[in-house]
Amino acid sequence: MRLLTKAKDKKMAITLNAPLDMHLHLRDGDMLTTVAPLTANSFSGAIIMPNLVPPVTTKEELTAYKQRIKEASKSDGFTPYMTLFFKPTYTKEFLESIKDELTAIKLYPAGITTNSEGGLSGFDVEELAPTLNAMSELNIPLCVHGETNGFVMDREAEFVSIYEMLATNFPNLKIIMEHITTKESVEALDKFNNLYATITLHHLLITLDDVAGGMLQPHLFCKPIAKRPEDREALRRVALNGHPKVMFGSDSAPHPQHAKESCGCAAGVFTAPIALQVLTELFIEHSTIENLQAFISDNARKIYTNIIVPNKKVILEKCSYTVPDKYGTVVPMYANEMLAYTITDIEGVN
Ligand SMILES: [Zn+2]
Repeated sequence: MRLLTKAKDKKMAITLNAPLDMHLHLRDGDMLTTVAPLTANSFSGAIIMPNLVPPVTTKEELTAYKQRIKEASKSDGFTPYMTLFFKPTYTKEFLESIKDELTAIKLYPAGITTNSEGGLSGFDVEELAPTLNAMSELNIPLCVHGETNGFVMDREAEFVSIYEMLATNFPNLKIIMEHITTKESVEALDKFNNLYATITLHHLLITLDDVAGGMLQPHLFCKPIAKRPEDREALRRVALNGHPKVMFGSDSAPHPQHAKESCGCAAGVFTAPIALQVLTELFIEHSTIENLQAFISDNARKIYTNIIVPNKKVILEKCSYTVPDKYGTVVPMYANEMLAYTITDIEGVN
């Protein structure tokens, strides 16, 4: 899992314009207070997942959560892009009334990951049509956690047929395949005009071997679970090449240390504070640094035509630093390890 850092002596500054995290968990309460500034500092905006307890399903909950995020993030240069937890009962009138506060709607199959018990238990086109047609008309993208309840390694590949059904029946709906982890999902991307994807940092780096091949690594345990080397290869191919339908979405998902280092480990990898530094290293190592801007911001701005993005320039330089062992109660990816790139300057409103 460790990045192979080849020594490059030339000091080179990398500038990222308006980085966006198109899939982020900020939680609520004390956890929100701890993690929100870590993203708000270096990103211009993020799509905020709605799987609180209870999930965000009303205008009141959504605007109140947005307000709590703004207060916790302590930054005017960061915009939280809010989402609702998908319900097939949302009417066009309701969506029209909330459209200005809302960027996307997130669909979870029931019980598939953290706090998704109230998710969808079936994919019946007729039942879904009123809400999905209204979303198409109002230009509200549908973000999907695409896994079935099948065998853990096959869940995402099995879900591709549902993506195809949705893409075919709702051709004007922008469908984002969230945190894809398999070559099957990568293949589906190019088959349908209206399918897009987010890819996490950790799925570009690890395979199942890094999670469970040796001693179990609870801080790398996430849903969808990391897959095979050829899957990671497929993800790297599109991300590193700046494929226009692919966006960075960290799926950074903080849990307190005791919930990760326990019998019944919670799913989620916490990458928010190290994402830009490690992505820079990864893209430089693959000689594709010129494509990082597309992956980290430009593609998302073209796909999500309903967002306004604050100006921000993040400067990174080759200068090593050690990742803290914890942020509050949360252990980050690469805790206590040395990273090769550091954020040396941030320009813009803060
Ligand atoms: Zn997520």
